[in-house]
Amino acid sequence: MKLPSSQFTKDQEKFRLEVRSFLQKELANRTFETACDSWLSGCNPQFSKKIAEQGWIGLTWPRKYGGQERSAIDRYILTEEFLAIGAPVAAHWIADRQTGPLLLRYGTEEQRSYFLPRITKAECFFAIGLSEPNSGSDLASVSTNAKKVEGGWLVNGAKTWTSNAHDAHFMITLVRTAPYDKDSKHSGLSQMILDLHDKGVSVKPIKYLTGERHFNEVFFEDVFVPDNRIVGTIGEGWKQGLAELAFERSGPERILSTFPLLEEIYSILKQQQNKEAMNKLTELVAKLWSLRNLSLGVAKMLEQGGEVAVPAALVKAMGTQFEQSIPEMVRLLTETYPTMDAQKMLDRYMAQSILHSPGFTIRGGTTEILYGIIAKDVING
Ligand SMILES: Cc1cc2nc3c(=O)[nH]c(=O)nc-3n(C[C@H](O)[C@H](O)[C@H](O)COP(=O)(O)OP(=O)(O)OC[C@H]3O[C@@H](n4cnc5c(N)ncnc54)[C@H](O)[C@@H]3O)c2cc1C
Repeated sequence: MKLPSSQFTKDQEKFRLEVRSFLQKELANRTFETACDSWLSGCNPQFSKKIAEQGWIGLTWPRKYGGQERSAIDRYILTEEFLAIGAPVAAHWIADRQTGPLLLRYGTEEQRSYFLPRITKAECFFAIGLSEPNSGSDLASVSTNAKKVEGGWLVNGAKTWTSNAHDAHFMITLVRTAPYDKDSKHSGLSQMILDLHDKGVSVKPIKYLTGERHFNEVFFEDVFVPDNRIVGTIGEGWKQGLAELAFERSGPERILSTFPLLEEIYSILKQQQNKEAMNKLTELVAKLWSLRNLSLGVAKMLEQGGEVAVPAALVKAMGTQFEQSIPEMVRLLTETYPTMDAQKMLDRYMAQSILHSPGFTIRGGTTEILYGIIAKDVING
């Protein structure tokens, strides 16, 4: 892999400080609570509104749709700062990271001018409707189907593990618009924008290990989706979906989900002047630095229009195992009493990390599937 270098310009460093100081101020005013894995489970629409007021949702998008036309690296910096402090950004996360870029690439002008400005104002949140009870890794086998009717499509079926579907307004949903063909299983799939408050949609919670409501089952019974809510081309859903995955696979959220815990243990050990434990911690920090440079390199490749599927798979496979390893290391370095409502930050972060981390290597494609992608690339040279 030849990745571009990861030096930041002075303006980019200045932007980082601007974001950091905003977050510190908000934290001091208690407008949010920090947490591990807050990018997917910290849903706080009011806080998303505050971020929107800064112009920080849709940062890279064209101004005519409410964006700021900033670079992908500026967005990377912004994201790193949210994750490092553990800010609750889940409400707008999917719309900002995936839906916007998808619509900019494949959406109609009508879809862009309707949805993008609303997303940038934190008025419109999206969920991802890919996985089904019998289709996870083998996504091409999805059986939620859409039948053509006058003026649109009738959708029937079910999705599962849908993060934040109960707080989102819409879902980009992968559906079968032509019967399954085992010889061409990636054909006949389409993407549509489904209104989660429409007649025939029901959203049922699946509780997390922590007891929190995070993901859901979503059922569709004769849900009418008008033609103008089809994204891109009918039958091209697989290809479009793969492009969408590139936006989600190798960002800082694949490395930093447990960073608040790492920072907390660092300050505690530093205070205790525990040199032996600090030495062990430096191993983690060195790994983090290497992964961060890889992830940043992929972001730069993506900005330059490069093909990132394999490097992104590599970063996600290594990054998510790294973020999973942090609570394991903390356990060896100090005594903790993890509970979700612990007074001590360390104990609370530990509980969040332990109970959330099994999902890190599953969501967005399991490690085994990613290894498959990497191995095929190696074999094919
Ligand atoms: C926290 C969290 C949030 C999620 N949010 C969403 C969401 O918002 N929207 C959404 O659509 N989905 C979401 N998912 C679902 C996630 O994408 C799927 O769980 C994942 O793709 C795996 O699918 P599965 O659970 O059906 O497992 P399966 O595909 O049944 O896999 C089971 C096991 O078999 C292994 N396996 C499967 N196929 C192969 C193979 N070919 N080679 C080697 N090993 C294989 C897998 O690695 C895994 O270990 C979320 C999951 C989590 C944990």
